[in-house]
Amino acid sequence: MQEAGYEAWCVGGAVRDALLGLAHLDWDLATSATPAEVRRLFRRTVPVGIEFGTIGVLDRNGRMHEVTTFRHDVRTDGRHAVVAFGASLDEDLARRDFTINAIAYDPIARRLHDPFNGQADLAQSLVRAVGDAEARMREDRLRALRAIRFAARFDFAIDQGTWQAIVSSAPFLTRLSPERVKQELDKTMEQVRRPSVALARWRDAGAFASLVPALASVSDSVLRAVDALPLPVLPARPLRKSLRFAALLSDLVGKEAERTLRDLRFSNHDITVISSLVERWARHGDALRGALAVGQIPSAVELRRLSADIGRLRVSAFVRLAAARWCTGEPPVSATVVRALYRQCILTAFREPIEVSDLAIDGDDLRRAGVPPGPLLGRTLQRLLDAVLEDPRRNSRDTLLGLVASFESDRD
Ligand code: ATP
Ligand code: MG
Repeated sequence: MQEAGYEAWCVGGAVRDALLGLAHLDWDLATSATPAEVRRLFRRTVPVGIEFGTIGVLDRNGRMHEVTTFRHDVRTDGRHAVVAFGASLDEDLARRDFTINAIAYDPIARRLHDPFNGQADLAQSLVRAVGDAEARMREDRLRALRAIRFAARFDFAIDQGTWQAIVSSAPFLTRLSPERVKQELDKTMEQVRRPSVALARWRDAGAFASLVPALASVSDSVLRAVDALPLPVLPARPLRKSLRFAALLSDLVGKEAERTLRDLRFSNHDITVISSLVERWARHGDALRGALAVGQIPSAVELRRLSADIGRLRVSAFVRLAAARWCTGEPPVSATVVRALYRQCILTAFREPIEVSDLAIDGDDLRRAGVPPGPLLGRTLQRLLDAVLEDPRRNSRDTLLGLVASFESDRD
């Protein structure tokens, strides 16, 4: 591009990460060429965000790099910006959010251009807004959440003026769409090894009070539990991310977790997975903790009832969530006891009859034995399962049919 007479600079996250010594896969470029000129210059391009001036350029290896025409903001309203082309590099850098994200690098001359001293802030591990922090947050309220995320991700402090601006942004965060808020929370769970640092700042700045009221005074011990769950590293591990969200919501009761997830536009699938984990934690977490803290593993009958209530395929996720809470709260539960419980739960869930479909007889058998179809049939199967959870040796055809007969004589 430079050969064709245009300015072309590497910008944004890739420059920042390179200076931090971190790998970054795609290089974003900023250029004086217009989008149409960029499309003429390269053989393989994709108009990924042409209305904002962004063209995707595929390199020799088929990897896409975003090339964006220098822009400056014409108008902002805290949510959307109207941008115009024909700006200079300095104007383009001035509209970026933080000094560490506003460093440009000329890959040919191998020269950095850093008008806002981003390198100094990288050196002292500081997230600082470009220019007047209050004004920059007013232009785009998402920046408040981005600052918190970047700080936690790199273990940086937040410059005091920038923090003040985040706190004064909190009441206005409601202007952001739930989708963008969810995306920030998603990225926090995906990118930050210890999300508690970020999430405590959401709470302390008042961002939760505005955006996720149920978490306005979330406890430190809940946040520590989120840290205890592993990063959902690539290739994407969706269950790991759901577990982190389940930990974050784990003190909510009743339908509050489900409502919170729905308000944030989580998918129906994620809502089911996360809220059913939270519900089971509310039902069993404290009682189990009491027993485990004194080294008591539940009895075989209790383990079967527990696995039946949680569901075979969710037992493993439940114990991982519970372990994160038990290991970080009071009274503490030893990791050895948790491992023993985990093993026992898995064995129980996968080797023993804990679901109606595991019973030695089914609905057809019951109908043949004279149980009329309808709600009574379902209730009968449930009673049989209860009997089998009590003692799995009862799970034979004859014993179960005998039990059905005794239920009937109960009713007579
Ligand atoms: P990541 O590794 O998470 O992608 P990134 O710095 O590349 O980090 P992006 O969200 O991809 O972050 O944005 C690319 C660049 O665009 C940023 O480095 C920043 O310069 C600029 N930018 C992005 N969002 C904003 C915003 N809301 N306000 C101002 N500048 C922004
Ligand atoms: Mg990026």
